[in-house]
Amino acid sequence: MMSDSLLSDASQRLEQALKYTSISEDAIESLKFPQTSLSVSIPVRMDDGSLKVFQGYRVRYDDTRGPGKGGVRYHPGVTMDEVQSLAFWMTFKCAALGLPFGGAKGGITVNPKVLSRMELERLSRGYIDAIADFIGPDIDILAPDVYTNSMIMGWMMDQYSIIRRFICPAVVTGKPIGMGGSLGRESATALGAFFVIEAMMPKFDKPPAATTVAIQGFGNAGGILAELLYLAGYRVVAVSDSQGAIYSRNGLDILNVRKAKEATRDIRAPYCDGSVCETTEHEVLTNAELLQLDVDVLVPAALENQITEANAPDVQAKLIFEVANGPTTSAADRILEEKGIYVFPDILVNAGGVTVSYFEWVQNRSGLYWTLDEVNQKLQSRIVEEAERIWRSPVISQFPCARQPTSMPSIAWVKRSAPKERGTTISTGVGGIKS
Ligand code: NAD
Repeated sequence: MMSDSLLSDASQRLEQALKYTSISEDAIESLKFPQTSLSVSIPVRMDDGSLKVFQGYRVRYDDTRGPGKGGVRYHPGVTMDEVQSLAFWMTFKCAALGLPFGGAKGGITVNPKVLSRMELERLSRGYIDAIADFIGPDIDILAPDVYTNSMIMGWMMDQYSIIRRFICPAVVTGKPIGMGGSLGRESATALGAFFVIEAMMPKFDKPPAATTVAIQGFGNAGGILAELLYLAGYRVVAVSDSQGAIYSRNGLDILNVRKAKEATRDIRAPYCDGSVCETTEHEVLTNAELLQLDVDVLVPAALENQITEANAPDVQAKLIFEVANGPTTSAADRILEEKGIYVFPDILVNAGGVTVSYFEWVQNRSGLYWTLDEVNQKLQSRIVEEAERIWRSPVISQFPCARQPTSMPSIAWVKRSAPKERGTTISTGVGGIKS
């Protein structure tokens, strides 16, 4: 799924961003390497009685700011390199949003679609058995990622509690509500991205009705974001899943696309009157074609490395909001910059998920639970404030052409590059930038 060079690609951006910071050489040196990387073999009894062993990983990249925080991914392409890179991103995402966490990530090399529910449960519990000594509410906290969900988080929390012999909800976030999950966690990534888009679009004088949007990935993040944008009046003209994309110049009826996806797992464009549905006019595209559509807003919300040196020259969108982690390579960034395309980076745009994960951890630890409105309002004020601070950053106005497209990723990377140094606190915001 991810090339072996992704960590070095991410490190290159860090190098670029460091030009604008005053971080010590010691901190830079320690940020080049993951702190701890654990690789485990997980034996699972399959439904047919056979035994299969899966490879699992957990990486704590840096815990200077607090316990590690990061999701667990189930995907056939998961490797140690990928998990290390994702843990690297989590380190800077938590710093960018000012959360008291370091960065971590986990994964299992598996295609969960071919497992039965019981096999999936045994695998998830086996993973916790294998890494239990490596995690904990004050050490490293798990969360959902690609192809993992609240049910799996519930099994993981339960297994950890069985091992420790007390109920320990704060070791995992993204749990079912009844097991200590937070209201609003399921939709938090999409809602955070929606708040960032809503805050940034007025700067481009684009009202929702005049804004066309294409979204790659129709899962937890992309699917919910598509619905939020559709309900706010944006023209969502294309969406996709791993099988391909659908496109309609006049805009898709996202509510019905979502209903169809839930019912059949296929991405289709129906129009429904009561229980009677017909397929509306639309084109079927590949995921590669979706990325090249002439739209105002492109949202990669599936996997990393989707916009590369090879296809960036063909991207026609005016603005890109990165909802997936690392969908644009650093080589592609440079091409997009030359083309005048703004890229709003992942660590800001998709940070709603980890922010509400933090809220869930706080609620678990205090035993005091918040209403959905409280959660969403806290999320909105935090993420919009960060987006505006990055937008207003003095570094952006240092560029000859104020607000050049390149500035957003660079400034966010400045923020990524500024976690607390060991022993001392340095600013994670624009105040940490050299003027
Ligand atoms: P998900 O498993 O719910 O959905 C993934 C979607 O991507 C599915 O629609 C799937 O069909 C599609 N997909 C898979 N392979 C594809 C391919 N090759 N081409 C196009 N589409 C493909 O996952 P998610 O939680 O929505 O996560 C999506 C991205 O957002 C990931 O990069 C993840 O790391 C990132 N992210 C998610 C969260 C979260 O809270 N869910 C938080 C931060 C970042």
